[in-house]
Amino acid sequence: MDTLESNFLAALDQVLGKPSPFIPLHEPEFGGREREFLNHCIDSTFVSSVGQYVDQFEAQLAEFTGAKAAIAVVNGTAALHIALLLAGVTPGDEVLVPALSFVATANAVAHCGAIPHFVDSEFSTLGLDPLALQNYLERIAQVTPQGLINKLTQRRIAAIIPMHTYGHPVSLGPLLHVAKHYQLPVIEDAAESLGSTYQGTHTGTLGLAGILSFNGNKIITTGGGGAILTNHQDLANQAKHLTTTAKQPHRWEFFHDHVGWNYRLPNLNAALGCAQLMELPMFLEKKRQLAQAYQDIFKEIEGINFIHAPENCLSNYWLNTIQLTQPSREIRDRLLTIANDAGFQCRPTWTLLHRLPMYTHCPRAPLPVAEQLEVSLINLPSSPKLVTGLRD
Ligand SMILES: *Cc1c(COP(=O)(O)O)cnc(C)c1O
Repeated sequence: MDTLESNFLAALDQVLGKPSPFIPLHEPEFGGREREFLNHCIDSTFVSSVGQYVDQFEAQLAEFTGAKAAIAVVNGTAALHIALLLAGVTPGDEVLVPALSFVATANAVAHCGAIPHFVDSEFSTLGLDPLALQNYLERIAQVTPQGLINKLTQRRIAAIIPMHTYGHPVSLGPLLHVAKHYQLPVIEDAAESLGSTYQGTHTGTLGLAGILSFNGNKIITTGGGGAILTNHQDLANQAKHLTTTAKQPHRWEFFHDHVGWNYRLPNLNAALGCAQLMELPMFLEKKRQLAQAYQDIFKEIEGINFIHAPENCLSNYWLNTIQLTQPSREIRDRLLTIANDAGFQCRPTWTLLHRLPMYTHCPRAPLPVAEQLEVSLINLPSSPKLVTGLRD
């Protein structure tokens, strides 16, 4: 083992203790009222598409995030799909998406019949780079009465999806500014950033709409689930309508006025969500403590940067992440091998989306930063429960 490798392993040991035998990347925790609410839900027989927990979960999400409305749905991808449709994305449009993201961000665009158009990230946030975006659009796009047109493909660029990578807020202020200049609706992919704020405002509430995910590996979980956040009541009403088969309310008539989706979150899942939301402040506290412990250790290690919250932002530190100061797939993979062999589940970042077979043909900006990040980021074990094992 060389110095970097042994330092890396020693740092993990020091923060997490010896794995016995294995420390997962992110584990859900059910130490609150989860069982009570689930039992109550089953006893009520309202386990499916209607019930008090769905209403309660939506109200509590809106309250926690400060969004005017939250609409609970089956997963984060479905939330993104509907948010894009409501932003006016139509088949054949392009949507600007970070190349460095989970595949769901691009999939939701494809589900609209639209084409993801990949753009670059910045080192400080791991998210979309507003300046690079502005320079790029200046070069390739043109505002017309029909909207923003990509001069190279003649297609309309219909929206942009900033994503808050691993819970770290993207540079939203400058991005909103660029988006406004180019008349682009902003849909925030806040799937990873429940509890993260940008200049005091919750992520996912600054664009036209935002989305959350409650998949099993996210900061809170409903088993599977997601939500659309928006401050526009009319958009919230449409989102609720479209995600619940577009049925007009009536005591007995089945009248649907649109091709709708069956995307609603079952009451059973919402019951789990209500209990998890009560635990969220404690999860956030623990995750920030864990991040601090990592940060204290890694600042002593040459060759490794710990990614911390951008300025004027609070991060939920969903997945703690280090960056190699010298980007190298080989070094990255060696560190991944020794950590995983030792029982610390560490993972690389996602393969850049334009390398996936279904997206290789899609338009893209130069991606120099994303390409460096791809071979220099490593996610570290990040479960809130790890904090009880933190050493003094
Ligand atoms: C988790 C996630 C989603 C949504 O995922 P679902 O599994 O559909 O809930 C979307 N975007 C990003 C960046 C994610 O991490």
